[in-house]
Amino acid sequence: MKNKESLFDKSQQELEEFCISKEFKKYNARQIMRWVYFYQTFDFTKMTDISKSLIGELLNNFHTNLPEIAGATYEEDINGYSKKYLIRLADDMTIESVLINYNNRKTLCVSSQIGCKMGCAFCETAGLERGRNLSSGEIISQILLISKDIKEKITNVVFMGMGEPLDNMIELKKSLNIMSDNKFLAIAPRKITVSTCGLLDKLNDIEKFKCKIAISLNASDDITRSRLMPVNKKFPLKNIVNLINLQKPTVHNKITLEYVLIKGINDNISNAKELIKMFSPSKVKFNLIPLNKGEDSIFLKNLERPEGSVINDFKVKLLKAGFTVTTRFSKAQSINGGCGQLTAKTLYS
Ligand code: SF4
Repeated sequence: MKNKESLFDKSQQELEEFCISKEFKKYNARQIMRWVYFYQTFDFTKMTDISKSLIGELLNNFHTNLPEIAGATYEEDINGYSKKYLIRLADDMTIESVLINYNNRKTLCVSSQIGCKMGCAFCETAGLERGRNLSSGEIISQILLISKDIKEKITNVVFMGMGEPLDNMIELKKSLNIMSDNKFLAIAPRKITVSTCGLLDKLNDIEKFKCKIAISLNASDDITRSRLMPVNKKFPLKNIVNLINLQKPTVHNKITLEYVLIKGINDNISNAKELIKMFSPSKVKFNLIPLNKGEDSIFLKNLERPEGSVINDFKVKLLKAGFTVTTRFSKAQSINGGCGQLTAKTLYS
């Protein structure tokens, strides 16, 4: 039997080429994609404005199988809940996605790779030894699968799961096209955040999507940042400062600087003062993330979360300098679903 491709891996252009090659119209591709992504109808035979002969071609060539939910952990409080999903892909590799459902906002933290080669010292995902890029279909499938599970639309997407999204550029762009198209998944660009460890040379490639950008900063000097994040050797702090200073200051497009606070490493008030000197409140906002550490974490064994008072002093210093600051005690933390905690632990079981 012919090996069918996943329809979710097809960009609009690729599906148009398929339609034309089978002597159908180019616009049929958008019709099919609207069924799949906007209406989330995965059965080709239910696509009422598609001709029988094109449905036959779709059935012969594509499948719309979603990956499988292999497990989930759940945590709730009075404002909402978070749920971490373990997802098994077609090749039996596993990834994690985290749904954070608070205040009517259904934010999905998606993975873009299995494992990550960027090697950030505070990140459990970096401890995984082998992996691969996810296809655009595998990225998009996380949204479709979890939307189906909760029977509601995902309203916000953050690329903060496993992997460095800008290290998987082709598939990232294909998935962003489908997410942000208002006839497909229709997630407004301002509700999509791409978070990078700082692959600054690749940011231009996604500029046209107008989505939000977060840069994982984590230090106020190059020695510390290089210790925590090997990427700093290629793109040191001054490059980040220069890039941000070239941005036009708009509230809407302020870049978020993520800062994982680690006891005795980057949490001193002098670090906050250095950040204040480097950045302008009109161009960036800070997201402070007190280190998340799984109870059985081996990878992070030498790193600790600062005391609450230290976290607060750091925040107040930045606030007084005029910055917008959020402190993210990651939702889903007790289920190891916070920033840098995604490991798909059953990967090697
Ligand atoms: S923090 Fe992000 S970029 Fe760094 S190792 Fe973890 S997944 Fe990769």
